[in-house]
Amino acid sequence: MTPQASSPIYNFSAGPAVLPKEVLAQAAAEMQDWHGSGMSVMEMSHRGPEFISIYKQAVADLRELLAVPENYKILFLQGGGLGENAIIPMNLVALAAQQPATIDFVHTGSWSGKSIQEAAKYANVNVAASSKATHFTGVPPVSEWKLTPGAAYLHICTNETIDGVEFQQAPGVPAGTTIVADMSSHILSRVIDVSQYGVIFGGAQKNIGPAGLTLVIVREDLLGKALPICPSAFDWSNVAAHESMYNTPPTYGIYIAGLVFQWLKRQGGVAAIEQRNMDKAALLYAALDADDFYQNRVAPQYRSRMTIPFYLRDESLNDAFLAGAKQRGLLQLKGHKSVGGMRASIYNAMPIEGVQALVNYLNEFAGR
Ligand SMILES: *Cc1c(COP(=O)(O)O)cnc(C)c1O
Repeated sequence: MTPQASSPIYNFSAGPAVLPKEVLAQAAAEMQDWHGSGMSVMEMSHRGPEFISIYKQAVADLRELLAVPENYKILFLQGGGLGENAIIPMNLVALAAQQPATIDFVHTGSWSGKSIQEAAKYANVNVAASSKATHFTGVPPVSEWKLTPGAAYLHICTNETIDGVEFQQAPGVPAGTTIVADMSSHILSRVIDVSQYGVIFGGAQKNIGPAGLTLVIVREDLLGKALPICPSAFDWSNVAAHESMYNTPPTYGIYIAGLVFQWLKRQGGVAAIEQRNMDKAALLYAALDADDFYQNRVAPQYRSRMTIPFYLRDESLNDAFLAGAKQRGLLQLKGHKSVGGMRASIYNAMPIEGVQALVNYLNEFAGR
């Protein structure tokens, strides 16, 4: 069934995901002629003054939004989150106190699991802690993490998109530990202290912009250590030296991300959007927890504000649930194939009205 024409559409896709309507409208208005240049952004040289101005504004706005300290570089790359799973070890294993290097991981769900598999091609991997035995419903206490002295770095995924598990703050690990954080699905959703991390990375398609753009924020002292086998286009020191223009960057993705950054600033910045995200998540979890018709299995203190998996107690109703949702304009609620059930991704661009519409439907379907 297609959505009824009258009802607004709310897109709960995990990614590529909803973008602010204002951003899409602005991009549409500027599609064929960007600011009187006579060109679409897609048609511009990445070295021309028009695109350079778009790039510089995007970097400056992101630096402001996340309060990125001066000693960190902001890089725009390609290759996605999974590409970074190989690019990061190639850039950082030389940091280890001894070779062959060891990389520490905390395994909290599907995405950190993929990172572990890929890194094993480049170094010894040590799973310092894992929540696998409890079906990825939380984060093991930091006091139980078995970190390796002299490890190259510690990799964590601060929002496990599929499992709906979120770190609520940077883990308190010993000083000198370089934390590499996959923030693909919650970057810019909450205030973070960038200085707690050596590297922050993410694909853009969850909370920033279109697929094809990958963001890396890296502390400068970690640059210049890439393995000889690291492709030049993915050697962060090379990319940084060329202001992300060593090869052609994903220009249109950078442009849309820049519009999203400006939209975020108009919303009051990250602290303001974080408050709205807390309100949205509280509204949705309250409906899921109201009785046992629905179930979210994540321990309350690790529940994600952005990516919220849930199950119908009676899974034989799944298809009817999804069909009814679609009819009401509530799209892409089907859970990831690896875990089943449902998933509501309520990224920055999801308005509270969309969450309220979903909650109304949850209540109606449960017959409350
Ligand atoms: C989506 C996602 C990825 C994968 O990103 P690709 O761009 O598809 O490579 C990696 N990590 C997390 C946390 C994600 O949500």
